[in-house]
Amino acid sequence: MQLTNDKYFISGIEINDLVKEYDTPLYVYDGAKISEQFRKMKDSLKVKNFKINYAAKALTNISILKLLKKLGSGIDAVSIQEIELALIAGFAPKDIVFTPNSVSFEEIESAIHKGVRINIDNIVMLEEIGHKYPQLPVGIRINPHIMAGGNSKISVGHIDSKFGISIHQIPLVERIIKTLNIKVNGIHMHTGSDILDVEVFLYAADILFNTAKHFQDIEYIDFGSGFKVKYKNDDIETNIEEFGAAISHKFNEFCQETGKEICLMFEPGKYLVSEAGYFLVKANVIKQTTSTVFVGVDSGFNHLIRPMFYNAHHEIINISNPNGNLRIYTVVGYICETDTFAWNRKLNEVRPNDILLFKNAGAYSFAMSSNYNSRYRPAEVLIHHGQAMLIRNRESLDDLLKNQIEVEII
Ligand SMILES: *Cc1c(COP(=O)(O)O)cnc(C)c1O
Repeated sequence: MQLTNDKYFISGIEINDLVKEYDTPLYVYDGAKISEQFRKMKDSLKVKNFKINYAAKALTNISILKLLKKLGSGIDAVSIQEIELALIAGFAPKDIVFTPNSVSFEEIESAIHKGVRINIDNIVMLEEIGHKYPQLPVGIRINPHIMAGGNSKISVGHIDSKFGISIHQIPLVERIIKTLNIKVNGIHMHTGSDILDVEVFLYAADILFNTAKHFQDIEYIDFGSGFKVKYKNDDIETNIEEFGAAISHKFNEFCQETGKEICLMFEPGKYLVSEAGYFLVKANVIKQTTSTVFVGVDSGFNHLIRPMFYNAHHEIINISNPNGNLRIYTVVGYICETDTFAWNRKLNEVRPNDILLFKNAGAYSFAMSSNYNSRYRPAEVLIHHGQAMLIRNRESLDDLLKNQIEVEII
């Protein structure tokens, strides 16, 4: 995003023009930023075979999936519906990895029938697959029990986590695959959503490499994700060059040691799309109470729940008044429950109808939106090759009523 002559632009498009054309609340995605992040990650990997599988759950719009396909990405899916969407977006089944947790065996079977790769995350399912699909190669998701996560709600590798097969159960896994003659072709881990420390990640990687040595048929090692991006100016972000160099070195050593040509995989969500997203809302009211100045906007946790759900910090900018005096505001939504986007933020003076912009609104933002308070979900716009394209209509009353059945009430 750029400020030129008191006007804000995203990849050459003036944001005010987007608001005029598509209204608020509005999600805008900068395709150039997604491409840049993809390229940065790709360039950091100095290995012969690698694959980046975009974690679709971060932002599932079909046009975003198509953009990632164009960039050469695969897809990491966590539900059969994400697999369906990826197939519609044009991904080949072999470029889709299904990494579910707590889904039914029927859902795993549907994925098997679609021909996608599967990462199994519990022993019961592994046995069941072995009995029913003895020829099918599967990956297994390992829980290395590493506490890596910026937020306890999203750290998934620790001892109490519901994710993965415990590293301590590898002897049992070995016994099962030997007895049932299962081909384990991949090892996977995903330790948390906010890995702060490259060292921790590399430590977990060593555990995974050691685990992989137990399996003869390994074709890929999938390190999941956890790459961190900046939400605040002073935040730490994953140094992708440093990380890529270190993991590539270890990976190449592993391939050499085992004499195998293996594929290195990652499944970033946030890293690829977080910073590409902007959320635009309008200030409805400025309300001074005894202690606080509230800005009430035309949105709430129905559209962007990360601040309330994860205590996430999203930078906010008043794009309508770039030279206004800085004042302290608490930015709240219109939902009839406490829904505070941000406390005590310094913003250029906010007047009714000013447009506020939230940063880092690409990942887990629209994707987690709802119709609470019977509000419509926002429209989405993608800027690609200098052109703004509507990629989702704003909802309407028809959408709220779509699956409702109005019965005669006597
Ligand atoms: C959510 C998820 C990811 C993506 O995590 P980010 O922090 O958004 O990069 C990757 N792999 C799996 C299995 C996931 O569930």
